[in-house]
Amino acid sequence: MVIADLQRELCGWISKTDVQELIAYELGIRRSELATHAQQELTDLQQKRICDHFTRRLNGEPLQYILGEWDFYGRTFRVTPGVLIPRADTETLIDAAKQLLQPGDEILDLCTGSGCIPITLTLEVPETKAIALELYPAAVELASQNATALSAPVTVRCANVLSEPNADLIGRFPVITANPPYIRSCDMATLPVEVQFEPKEALDGGVDGLIFYRFIANVWKPCLQKGGKLVLEIGYDQAIAVTEILWQEGFRDIKTVQDAGGNDRVIIGTLDN
Ligand code: GLN
Repeated sequence: MVIADLQRELCGWISKTDVQELIAYELGIRRSELATHAQQELTDLQQKRICDHFTRRLNGEPLQYILGEWDFYGRTFRVTPGVLIPRADTETLIDAAKQLLQPGDEILDLCTGSGCIPITLTLEVPETKAIALELYPAAVELASQNATALSAPVTVRCANVLSEPNADLIGRFPVITANPPYIRSCDMATLPVEVQFEPKEALDGGVDGLIFYRFIANVWKPCLQKGGKLVLEIGYDQAIAVTEILWQEGFRDIKTVQDAGGNDRVIIGTLDN
């Protein structure tokens, strides 16, 4: 069977883009190059592998986990079902944090997952480096692999953000970033089928979705230098609640930044001490 015929057969069940991604992945080419291969004959093994991946996608599994990689801010990251898939929304956090960083700065990233935030920031802002914390050993390993593969000066450590920071982190950082779990527990069951494949530990922010913000603003604030800034991704309806948490913890000059869809997505607060 030639590529164009298989593509025609699978479209209609899943999106054309996803079909093209699966075929291009199998051939080791970019999606944009597929058109020039339209009449190429596929081997039985290639067809079987594409159809296996197609069935997984049809069952709702995210394309990103099937491919095992995804692009974020122009770079390719390895992703596994053990980490949240890097999202375009989080690029808003990168844009916001980039403007606050100076060459030579060291960043602390909490709940790092794939490591996409600290890796991108250290590569975007010259002469910066980062420490990234992550609870789950498989994710620590993946974030480290991503940092190595992209030559980013990021050290990944295993640590629980819902506990006290290590003494060596105190007073050290001009900027702390995080995209913590922020979905309300009661909303977890209503997430789209693709999101249900992602680790619930990366999504579930407790009863009101705010547990990590309270911890970060309170327990992790001592890791900031004087006048240091917290840059946090938030849910579209959490700006007021998170502003209040930051204010009560002594943060001032609190600003909200909108994502490309016009939703509140990032909050920045400056520690006033
Ligand atoms: N933005 C993600 C979603 O809605 C949630 C990410 C998170 O909890 N940090 O699926």
